[in-house]
Amino acid sequence: MNGSANGRVALVTGASRGIGRAIAVALAGDGWTVVVNYQANAEAAAQTLALVQAAGGQGVTIQADIVHAAQRERLVQETLSCYGRIDLLVNNAGMAPRQRLDLLEMTEASYDEVMAVNLKGPFFLTQLVAKAMIALSQKDMGAPPCAPTRAIINIGSISAYASSVNRAEYCLSKAGMAMMTRLFADRLAEYGIAVYEVRPGIIETDMTRPVREKYDQLIAAGLTPFRRWGRPEDVALAVAAIAAGHFPFSTGEVINVDGGFHLRRF
Ligand code: NAP
Repeated sequence: MNGSANGRVALVTGASRGIGRAIAVALAGDGWTVVVNYQANAEAAAQTLALVQAAGGQGVTIQADIVHAAQRERLVQETLSCYGRIDLLVNNAGMAPRQRLDLLEMTEASYDEVMAVNLKGPFFLTQLVAKAMIALSQKDMGAPPCAPTRAIINIGSISAYASSVNRAEYCLSKAGMAMMTRLFADRLAEYGIAVYEVRPGIIETDMTRPVREKYDQLIAAGLTPFRRWGRPEDVALAVAAIAAGHFPFSTGEVINVDGGFHLRRF
């Protein structure tokens, strides 16, 4: 994971829009070949691919709903048959609850849906990709590397630790992802695979569109030390820095990209 990517392959889930799109474009600009995964929005995914190519990179779009085991397997198989390798997995795909309901009213259906997209899907996709990465690392010849050669980056959230009682299922899913990062970091270190969490704060995307005015007011009132919305590109820069190999002796680490939200303040 050092220097120019030189055609190494990144699989970015949920790269058709928002943060995932910005990550795909930033990686392409650094020389990564990018697999642009999406669930439903083929047109948006095609636009991301055009941006990847405009940034000087190459890639493909692959539709797959990460909730379903067969589709996760197809995603990994298609990536390997296109390029023969996966060097970086970015678990970015995610959803907010369809309806914000107080946790005393939250439905089991919403709990299951959000946990499946935000935690179970990424967990089992990571399991699959990790096995492919291990097989690839066993093909690599020579002495064990002194810096990680492959990486997994999970896009978490400040909701991993900040309570929002009207979207408890989202908070639970992101808290689970924080532990998922630590578990895979521990398990995969011996194979030279580093695992990180990038933890965004309030980022301007389709996901936050329904609460834009509320957050405009909260941010203006000082909710975050940097009084502005985060942009998808802010998150993408952090991902690109990790992908470029600038953290060679770190794994299981959390990088906050939140304008300072996580600081405790008087
Ligand atoms: P977004 O604009 O709503 O985009 C969501 C992306 O995920 C889309 O590309 C969507 O694909 C894809 N997706 C959703 N469900 C999927 C599934 N089952 N299988 C495959 N792809 C799926 O969201 P965003 O704001 O960019 O969020 C990206 C990540 O950052 C999420 O994990 C989110 O929890 C996290 N995050 C966001 C914020 C924020 O303030 N926005 C803050 C902290 C963390 P289609 O286009 O095909 O629907």
